[in-house]
Amino acid sequence: MSRRKTTDLRSLIREKGLRATPARVAVCEVLERATSPLTHADVAKLLDARGTDQTTVFRNLNDLVEVNLVRRLEVGDHVYRFEWCGATAPNTGHAHFMCVDCGEVSCLEDLQPSQPTAVARASKKLIGDITEVLYKGHCAHCV
Ligand SMILES: [Zn+2]
Ligand SMILES: [Zn+2]
Repeated sequence: MSRRKTTDLRSLIREKGLRATPARVAVCEVLERATSPLTHADVAKLLDARGTDQTTVFRNLNDLVEVNLVRRLEVGDHVYRFEWCGATAPNTGHAHFMCVDCGEVSCLEDLQPSQPTAVARASKKLIGDITEVLYKGHCAHCV
């Protein structure tokens, strides 16, 4: 979660072949500073004060996912969540934890889905590769 300067974000966006519009840079800033994955509504709410409308936020999120600057998660509640991946490769994602009571999704930064796990070894014939690992349970606030 290092804080990058806005100018670095701009060049990162341009390197991916996108225009570094103020709205796009703002979306990147919000996601980079977030400590957990954010929904479209979360991002839109945070950018509302800056006058960025919801449609623009949505379009930008999708553009950023397309060029792998942002990762999109679907944890089974039919709500897409977005998190910053920046310069790291898109397939080096980490596992997530979802609280079944409050719905909060947290990053488990140290758990890499791409690591050869016992699961992958045990079911070699079933699994091509693992792209997402999700743990469910009760968060510390909800136990
Ligand atoms: Zn909870
Ligand atoms: Zn995460």
